[in-house]
Amino acid sequence: MDDLRIEPCRSECTWRATDKQLDGEQLFACGSCGSEWVPSQPWTPADADGIVPPDVARVRQGR
Ligand SMILES: [Zn+2]
Repeated sequence: MDDLRIEPCRSECTWRATDKQLDGEQLFACGSCGSEWVPSQPWTPADADGIVPPDVARVRQGR
C-alpha cells in the first residue's frame, strides 16, 4: 500500500473527500493539516468538533 500522509491534526481539522484515488479507493484529506485517509484504514477520521464527516461515515457504512 502506498504511504498516506499523516500529520498531527490540529483543532481546526475538516475532513473531506478529494477527487483522487489511492489503490482504487477514494482518497480523503484533512483541509487543515493535510493528513490523508482511505476507507481501508483501521481508524476513522473525525473533524475538530469530534463528528465524523458525512462523506467518511457513508464510505465506512458501505464496507
Ligand atoms: Zn487534520
